[in-house]
Amino acid sequence: MAGKRDYYEVLGVDKNATDDELKKAYRKLAKKYHPDANPDNKKEAEAKFKEVNEAYETLSDSQKRRMYDQFGPDGPQGFGGGAGSQGGYYSYSTSGFDGFSDFGDLGDIFSSFFGGGSFGGRSSSRRAGPVKGADLKTYVDITFEEAYLGVEKEISISRNETCSICHGNGAKPGTSIENCTVCGGTGVVKQIQTTILGQMQTQRPCSNCHGTGKVIKEPCDNCRGKGTVRKQARIKIKIPAGIDDEQTIVLTKQGEPGERGGVNGDLYIVVRIKKHSIYTRKGDRVFCDIPITFTQATLGAELEVPMVDGTKERYKIPEGTQTGTKFTIRNKGFKTVNGNSQGDFVFTVQVQVPKRLTKEQRDLLLQLAKTMNEQPPVKKRGIFG
Ligand SMILES: [Zn+2]
Ligand SMILES: [Zn+2]
Repeated sequence: MAGKRDYYEVLGVDKNATDDELKKAYRKLAKKYHPDANPDNKKEAEAKFKEVNEAYETLSDSQKRRMYDQFGPDGPQGFGGGAGSQGGYYSYSTSGFDGFSDFGDLGDIFSSFFGGGSFGGRSSSRRAGPVKGADLKTYVDITFEEAYLGVEKEISISRNETCSICHGNGAKPGTSIENCTVCGGTGVVKQIQTTILGQMQTQRPCSNCHGTGKVIKEPCDNCRGKGTVRKQARIKIKIPAGIDDEQTIVLTKQGEPGERGGVNGDLYIVVRIKKHSIYTRKGDRVFCDIPITFTQATLGAELEVPMVDGTKERYKIPEGTQTGTKFTIRNKGFKTVNGNSQGDFVFTVQVQVPKRLTKEQRDLLLQLAKTMNEQPPVKKRGIFG
């Protein structure tokens, strides 16, 4: 994962490139570096080609692109080893060139470019070819403070994993896997039908081998021949400071295993942030109410405002501060997930009117009221009554 080139650089586009610009750049480079177009240095071209595909695969998917912009090329899961060693989180998700069917609207480039040659027989092998595993989705709940500071969490998810005994082929170790006799190992069965228009050939996946072309003599005991086993996987994730409610972290290749050599699906983790008793959030700004006394509001005061990280900020409010006045402490809100900037902390002062006064306090306030030419308080409607 380390030392990867920046995807924007790979495609030679600007960070703000539109989807169209990305696609254009991708088309140009894919043609330039396609191994068939570079017979003299196939190896090098293939490497470049893969790099270009990888970059495009990430940047053309708006969700993956956002993740890439936020977390950089290594992804949010900064942990090596374990299941994570299956690949970088933005790595090109197919081995070799089997992934082209994923490119959807770009199919036209490839069909025109390859002229059907390189992929001869592709349409027939496709049905029996590698299939990407299913994507999974799960949730992780964190506190307001954890979202503010960033946190490492371990999530538990039930998923199928490739059987470690048979390595996914479903056969008992030491037993043989034979070519299917029904389809001759091709995984497809051809049928010739005679119609009024002449003879027509149709193909369908072989039902005897389920399109794999192989037949297992003795199934693996561990997975009963399925090639996968249900497991409770524990996965560590790094949730970056500044993550917002309902934001999704995508861990590529952490979903269900692919079939017939296909890559694993992705795991989508939706982050949910619990409500806080004091703070609220809007974008990267934090809001809260701070109670102050009547005298602090009148005379001005230096307040100690509690920050989300547990520290306190001293803040001077001027004399004559009205209840409901908002004050802003710069750069004490949420960080943006890429750590490039930080929002503000906004607090609103709420003047607390004393409910009970001593005789002395009451006399002082009455004197004050007099100097302000106020009506002396009547029993029910007085200002401090
Ligand atoms: Zn097995
Ligand atoms: Zn078969």
